[in-house]
Parts: sequence; structure tokens; C-alpha cells
Amino acid sequence: MCGIVGYLGNNDCIENIKQGLLNVEYRGYDSAGISYIDGNKIVVQKRVGNVQNLFDTITCPDGIHCGIGHTRWATHGEVCEKNAHPHLSFNNKFSLVHNGIIENYAMLRDNVLSEIPFRTDVDTESIVNMVAYINQEKPEMPIVNCLGESLKSLQGSYAIAMIAKETPDVIYFARKESPLLIGVADGETFISSDILGLGKNCEKYVVVPNGVYGVIATDGIKAYKQGGKPYELEFKSMISLGERADKGDNAHFMQKEINEIPAVIVNTIDIYLKPLNPLTIIEPSFWEGIERIEFIACGTSYHASMVGAMFAEDNAHKVARTHFASEFVYNPPFVDEHTLCVFVSQSGETADTLHAVKVAKEKGAKTLGVTNVMTSNLVHVCDHTLPICAGVEVAVASTKAYNAQVTVLLLLADFLRDGNYETIARRISSEAMTLNLEEMWANAKKFVKKISNSRSIYFVGRHMDYITCLESSLKLKEISYIPCEAYAAGELKHGTIALVEEGTTMLAIVTEPKLISKTLNIVEQAKARGATLIYYTSLNLKDFAVKDKDVMRAPVVDVELSPLFSIIPMQMVAYLVSVGKGYNPDRPRNLAKSVTVE
Ligand code: GLU
Repeated sequence: MCGIVGYLGNNDCIENIKQGLLNVEYRGYDSAGISYIDGNKIVVQKRVGNVQNLFDTITCPDGIHCGIGHTRWATHGEVCEKNAHPHLSFNNKFSLVHNGIIENYAMLRDNVLSEIPFRTDVDTESIVNMVAYINQEKPEMPIVNCLGESLKSLQGSYAIAMIAKETPDVIYFARKESPLLIGVADGETFISSDILGLGKNCEKYVVVPNGVYGVIATDGIKAYKQGGKPYELEFKSMISLGERADKGDNAHFMQKEINEIPAVIVNTIDIYLKPLNPLTIIEPSFWEGIERIEFIACGTSYHASMVGAMFAEDNAHKVARTHFASEFVYNPPFVDEHTLCVFVSQSGETADTLHAVKVAKEKGAKTLGVTNVMTSNLVHVCDHTLPICAGVEVAVASTKAYNAQVTVLLLLADFLRDGNYETIARRISSEAMTLNLEEMWANAKKFVKKISNSRSIYFVGRHMDYITCLESSLKLKEISYIPCEAYAAGELKHGTIALVEEGTTMLAIVTEPKLISKTLNIVEQAKARGATLIYYTSLNLKDFAVKDKDVMRAPVVDVELSPLFSIIPMQMVAYLVSVGKGYNPDRPRNLAKSVTVE
């Protein structure tokens, strides 16, 4: 996670870094910091807390034209000012920001760098001290080569931006696994972990390829491959980022993003219904000979993948399964050239998922990415990619991207059957257009108190509703911190029912008529043991002695499309409970948006 930015140019560096950091802050908000050269001294200013807090509590001189900044999601070393980035080298000659994990940092600190004083508990410090150490040992070596040499000793992942006292108007950079982009405008160069962190006026950008490092100076950018061979960076025209970081009339990005769901679904469908679209432009031979489909993802994307796998199996009649990316890496299923591996990641930078792509490719599988960020690493490493077209998602807890992922995966399932997904596409679009979000918010509000007062919540459901339970439970725990779990309804009696007592809430999701009585049996068993009940349903439960006050209405949609739409009121409930408890749903504790570390 962590957000990196750097600026070199004619305009106000501090303001540019501040704006860049605000735009990438969703990547981590444990602490923030900035570094620049003032006179002949490297200045580092850092604070625990968010970017605004940093800039509210520091003063910087005017006339700074080069600097780096960071917003942290700590992996190594507690959250405190000392451990915040930028990190200074032991001799104060270099200052560096980092996204990633240096796996062998302790080994470096205790061996090669054992004579060097370390000031923090962070793995990052080993990088900056390694550069300073090589620079001290070989003073004649250009700094960019010292950086190149240092990289050889690092194990793990990194996106780095560094400044050096000796070379005031220069930013050094390097990238392995973690994302890094460079953007250029007239007389200005930006560097960032995310396209959102590049300046508004950027004309061109490049995603720094894996294993490339280099130097940004006023006379241009030079890049090298590991080993020192010059590398030509290929810049592309900047893509439009008009919609970023604007909450409109909403109190939070999460609220805005939930309200965008119908439009996102319709827009995604429109794109996939064009004659030349992300599915039809893939060469037909790619789809030939596929015997199995493995969906690989993490978190919310994993739940979207479960929907994708269920529909791929039902509609395309292929064996289709879902795997946690972090498990796929260590325990891959049987995968060969007849396997289609589908990797789903909102950011396209999820480290576990990217690692899994490598494993699948080694085994000869066909690889298909599904992502919201077409500049991401996932696009580069997969054979083909399907965009979900959700627009920038800022809130850490994913909402509209989930619905967009499910939409694309539903289309994919029908496409894999016979190439014809137009019927389902039109059905989805027409259901999306008739959703009444205002009514959903009003309904969700009625249950906020009951849910907020629960000590723990069990979501139970069967078949497709079970997937909605999983995603609803994840959403609620992410931003309300209420302990909650999801169970396939039939499983509860095999152990977990032992935990049911007064204060436990059981939320049963029932949207498939054929499952009503079996799911409600479970609820009765929990009720008999003191659980408070909530029924979340689009169906008529009159015949089941259910009290109206306990029924939360799910949108009435085509049953087959229930996972796509019935999640929306649950996303709303999670949001409302979080706000009601006084939390900021956009910035949940301990989380960050783009999980770029394993
Ligand atoms: N390992 C670094 C730290 O803990 C960077 C963390 C990250 O990229 O998420 O500060």
C-alpha cells in the first residue's frame, strides 16, 4: 500500500506534493511526510495521521522545486513519527520514500550494514542506508549507479523515490513489483504510485516497468534495466481523470460510490455491447480449448469471483472454481494450457493476485485480468484484460467496483457458453435502470439501530445468497468493526450455533423462493437460542410466521441477478452503521485501498 509522490518542476513543489498525497491517501493514512532540499540541507517533515494534518502542522519555505512525499500504511515498525517516511540515510545525504516490503532488511542491517546506525524500525531504512553506504564506499560512482547497485541486494518489493543532497534538482526512482508511474507536463515531472497522484496538467505518463530504475532531472529522464543497460521509457498520452476526488453533495466517497452503482452498471454494459468491445477484440483462439476456469482474487473481488465461478459453471458448463490468491500461490490446483485463470482485482495492483498470475503463467495457463485500473500491473502481466469501467473508487471499502466486477463476470459466463451475452446484458441494464436507491436508503436506515446494537452478527444464506452474506459481512466488519461472519445456512448447526446467545443478531438473506423454508429452519433454531433476527428478503414470508418489523426488503429483481443487486442495501447498511458509530467509512482503521504487499 503506501502512496508515493515526487515533483520536479517550475511550479510550487510543496503544493504539488500535497495535492498528489491527498489523491493517493486512500492507499494508507497511518502517517505522512515530505522531504526536499533547502539550501545545502535535506529537510524531512513528517507526522502521524493524515496528509491534511501534516500540512496543517508544518511550514515549508517558498521556492522549492523538487521533493518527495509519502502517505504510509505500515508493514514494519509501529505507527509513529520516527517510523514515518521519508527516511533519511545515516549520513543525512539521502532521503527516500518506499512502497513495498524489503524482506531481507534485518539481514542487511545486521551484516553488510552492521556498522551503520539505524534510527527506525522500518524495512525501508535499509534501502536508503544501502545507497548511502555504497556512495560512501565508492564516492566516484554516480548516484544513480549507487542506487542500481543497492537494488541488487534487496529482496522483496519496492517502488522508490529518492532525493540526494549532492544533486538538488533530481529525483531517483526504482520499481520492482510495487506500482510506480511518471507523468510529464510542460516543465514539470511527477512521480507517483498511482495515476491519481500525478499532476492534473500531466500530458503524458508511463508505468515504470518492473526492474527499471533511473533518474529524473531538469534535462530529462534516464532509465536503466537491472544490470545498468539503458532503457527507453515509452510515454503515453494522459488519460482523463476528471471524476477523481470529488464527493459532490455526498458526505463521504462511499455514499457517492453506492449512489453511482446503477449508472456504473449501465455504463459497463454499454461498453460491452459495442461491436468492438473488450471481449470481442480478444482473438478467438484465446477462448479455444478451455476445459477449466479458475477465478483468483482477494477480499471483495474474491466474492465477485464466487459469483463469476457459479455462473460460469452453470452457464458455460465448465468446471469453475474460486481461489484466494494468497492460497493459490502456495497450493495451486491442477492448472495447464487448457485452464483459463481469471484474476480479479479492483486496483490491478493486489500483490497476492499478481503473484498468482506468475504461478499460473509458469504452468502454461491462459490468463485474463478483470480490473478497474487499465494502467495497472495486472493489465501488463495478463494475456488479456476486461475493464470493469466503474470509474475511480476512492472509499477503501469497495462498493460500486464489486457490482461492476459481478456485471462483467456475468457477461463473461454467458460469453464462455456460446459467445452470446447480449440477452443477459440487456436484462442487467434494464434492472439497474429501475432500481430505487432512495427507497433502499430509507429501508436500510430502519435497521441501523438494531445492527449497531448487536454484539456480533451472523449472516446466513444458501447458494447465491451465501455469497451476498459473505460480501455483506465483510463490508460491515470493514467499516463498523462489529464482529460478523457469514455462513452457508446449513453449516451453522454443525458448530457455530454454539456461539448464539442473547445479543447475537442473525441476519438471514433469502432471495430464492426454493430456499425459503430450508433457510428459515436455521433461523428458527437460532431464535430458540436467544438470537435477534433480521430477515433480508425480496420474497413474501407471510406463510412463515415472520413479523413485518423484522423484515428488511431486498430489491425485487430477476432471481438470477440477485447477487448483483441484493448487495446494495447491505452496502448501505454498512455505511450507515459506520457513520452512526462516528467512524469515517472512507478511511477504516488498519486498512488501505490497494493491497500492494503480500
Ligand atoms: N514497508 C514500508 C513501511 O512499513 C512500506 C509499507 C507499504 O508499502 O505498505 O513503512
